[in-house]
Amino acid sequence: MAGHDHLLEVRPKLPKALARLEDLSGNLYYSWERRVRGLFHRIDPDLWNRCEHNPKIFLRRVSQVRLKALAKSPDFLFQYKSVLDAFDSYLSAERDRPLQAISGLEPGRDLVAYFCMEYGLYESLQLYSGGLGILAGDHCKAASDLDLPFLSVGLMYRQGYFTQRLDRDGVQQMIYRPFRMEDLPVMPVTDEDGQEIQVAVELADRTVAVRVWQIRVGRLQLLLLDTDVPDNRPDDRRITYQLYGGDRVMRIEQEMVLGVGGVRALRAMGFHPSVWHINEGHPAFQILERCREWVSQGLTFPGALEAVAAATVFTTHTAVPAGHDLFARELAERYLMPLAEFLSVPLSRLLALGASPQRGDAFNMTALALRGSRRHNGVSAVHRNVAARMEAHVWPDLDPADNPIAWVSNGVHVPTFLAREWVNLFDGRYPDWRQHLGDVDFWEEAVGSIADHRFWSLTQSLKSDMLGALHGCLFRQYCRNNYPRSRIEGMEAVFSPENTRPLIIGFAGRFATYKRALLIFQDIERLGRLLNDPDRPVIMLFAGKAHPQDVPGQSLIKRIHEFAARPPFLNRVFLIEGYDIALARKLVTGVDVWLNTPEYPMEASGTSGQKAAMNGVINLSVLDGWWAEGYDGDNGWAIAPHDRELSAEQRDRVEAEDLLDLLEGQVIPEYYRIGPGAYSPDWVARSKRSMISVLPHFNAEGMVRDYAQRLYAPAARHGERLTADGALEAERLAAWKARVAQCWEGVEVQWRRLPPTSILTGERLRLEVLVWLNGLESGDVVLECLLNGCDGEGDASECLVPLPHQSPAALLDERSTLVHTFLSTKDEEEEAQVFRLELESPDNGIYQLHVRLYPWHELLSHPFEMGKMLWLFETETIED
Ligand SMILES: *Cc1c(COP(=O)(O)O)cnc(C)c1O
Repeated sequence: MAGHDHLLEVRPKLPKALARLEDLSGNLYYSWERRVRGLFHRIDPDLWNRCEHNPKIFLRRVSQVRLKALAKSPDFLFQYKSVLDAFDSYLSAERDRPLQAISGLEPGRDLVAYFCMEYGLYESLQLYSGGLGILAGDHCKAASDLDLPFLSVGLMYRQGYFTQRLDRDGVQQMIYRPFRMEDLPVMPVTDEDGQEIQVAVELADRTVAVRVWQIRVGRLQLLLLDTDVPDNRPDDRRITYQLYGGDRVMRIEQEMVLGVGGVRALRAMGFHPSVWHINEGHPAFQILERCREWVSQGLTFPGALEAVAAATVFTTHTAVPAGHDLFARELAERYLMPLAEFLSVPLSRLLALGASPQRGDAFNMTALALRGSRRHNGVSAVHRNVAARMEAHVWPDLDPADNPIAWVSNGVHVPTFLAREWVNLFDGRYPDWRQHLGDVDFWEEAVGSIADHRFWSLTQSLKSDMLGALHGCLFRQYCRNNYPRSRIEGMEAVFSPENTRPLIIGFAGRFATYKRALLIFQDIERLGRLLNDPDRPVIMLFAGKAHPQDVPGQSLIKRIHEFAARPPFLNRVFLIEGYDIALARKLVTGVDVWLNTPEYPMEASGTSGQKAAMNGVINLSVLDGWWAEGYDGDNGWAIAPHDRELSAEQRDRVEAEDLLDLLEGQVIPEYYRIGPGAYSPDWVARSKRSMISVLPHFNAEGMVRDYAQRLYAPAARHGERLTADGALEAERLAAWKARVAQCWEGVEVQWRRLPPTSILTGERLRLEVLVWLNGLESGDVVLECLLNGCDGEGDASECLVPLPHQSPAALLDERSTLVHTFLSTKDEEEEAQVFRLELESPDNGIYQLHVRLYPWHELLSHPFEMGKMLWLFETETIED
């Protein structure tokens, strides 16, 4: 019968006085500006909730009578007008500080094009799966706040990522809910004649048409590519339906559409970005498309690659090997063949760009991204070092510590994740707080000056809101699964808005195995005892999705489900289905403690703990990812990762014990150390520290500023330099690299004279080295002497100070390593070039002396870009 129904939708007409509600529903400004959502909520709170806070759907369902009444309500109109004023002034705001000063980018001259596979902007826009997407969404929002010349490119997934349900047995159900385009704040991109823009992308044996949608994210544009076009054959229309939903063929096709189609869409719209940011490896095919553009303008392929790479920034996001995108060689061959033919380069040349030691001859998108970019970064200090080791094959001669990989620590978009109650409090006291996000002193004052009792009652009211909201979620979940009455009642007793007394611990994120969601259950008896102390009850909340193909992740969910169903965890441990941005916002603002137990060093950054901290929630986490930088001793609790020599089981056991020790000895007692004001002053102090120390250091605005200053601006200028005048410099650099590649094997270094083993202070240290350049010029190389100060007699491994991540030469001195460059002199008697260095004796002490030779050119992005280096050790010197 249902198939024969005809649905008729009667849509409201917005009264003239409220016409601009339409504008508000068309810009994701509402995803972080609570006043806009507050306005929709006020129109019809119940409907707003039923529409899952989707403004487009809401405006199609709202009652005409209600709209008419509100159009005449002075009070509502006042609120409407003040929201619109804020919106208009946000969009038109004159920059409070010149952009140049904060970032080195120039509007008009520069444009950053940001490419990512997923964007987590708002709950009703299911274009994200987890942390990567949320981070990309936050990056865009902060770029808009900073009014950066910036746009972003992604895919228009019509079914998005799955919505998670848990069935009666704790099995994850993955539900894809196709959305209608009219329910989303998207518009087709059109050309001057009003025609929809379409671009074509060759996929192995055929060409698919791609259309382009746009979303307004504050001041910026997010472009979304879509193959669901009538001209395409049916299975091609499905390419962009689901995020991470298909098989490897679908994945490579998605990535071709994103990388190649993305560049073509930007060109069709007339954009000429000066910086291209590849966020995680998925969009890296854009490198090859941009090379194709240069080759079609007459450049050689190596010259094109230099031109492209100089203007490209690549961020790697995962320390888990399986998190890197690899394609079987045959698959990569099939999809790269048309391009190789166009470029007239052997296919093997393109395949080599994706070569890595991982899985034999598979094509690795991370490797392509690294070889096609000159500025690369990890997302925390710990992750930088992991990435430098994982990707060491790209710079084969370097110590991983020297690899040219920088880091920018992740941060979260404060207006999106700060609870409304905090926003209201700061709005009332410091109307310009949004201008002070990175100002430590400001937050010290703004948070420090809140009276303890006020601070406490605010966190408790957030907790109470969360309990009420989660009651709704769990009630639906339990009823759908036909749980017995007693189980539902037990849940209801906990999730009552009045029940704020128990300590509540939250744990949420993707259920990836490295996050070790089960760590805390290592000692069931002890945990059971801690949670069930009648005087000091503790509740644990879990939420998270497992990737559709992640079977072990899905079994983690099942295990937690089983724990939650029986003593000692019944009514103490709860697993809430459907983790998304909205649920994340509830949890990170409402719990008391945010728990994270990753296996070091696998948590590249993690951001959920940052969201929690800026809401006054206290972190209890392994010192990994961002927490290794964020923990200061007073702002939360830390589990130090144990010796990596231990087996995984041993490590888990020891770290679980540390975790339970912390809970038993510190967290629970501190929470329940209640003072005269019916709360724990120590707890409030730590909670304030958590907010003050994390908010200014881990917010997305600071992060985007760092990207702009340290990566975008240098890439823009470097790209400009290489591509001026028909990219002559790019060709020059490529030719030089070819020469180095040819000659380097035959280059040799030797001491001409062994250095002395001791000198008197005040004496000069004279060093002489012979270099056989094998056809290179002395100006093509740098010969350096490193002096590492040692304490006592220390052996080399103790005194080799790890070199800092960025420009080593500039920063070395701070690390007690002195670097001196040799000068080359022509010496007629020798076949080889003589390099000499004469130094004042350094301060008295013992030094390790190292000499290294590496190829150098003024157009390189980093002294070690070539990854080639020769070391001269004393023990390897001239034998007589
Ligand atoms: C913040 C956030 C994440 C990332 O959290 P981590 O577990 O810290 O990586 C994932 N999913 C959602 C919905 C989030 O809001």
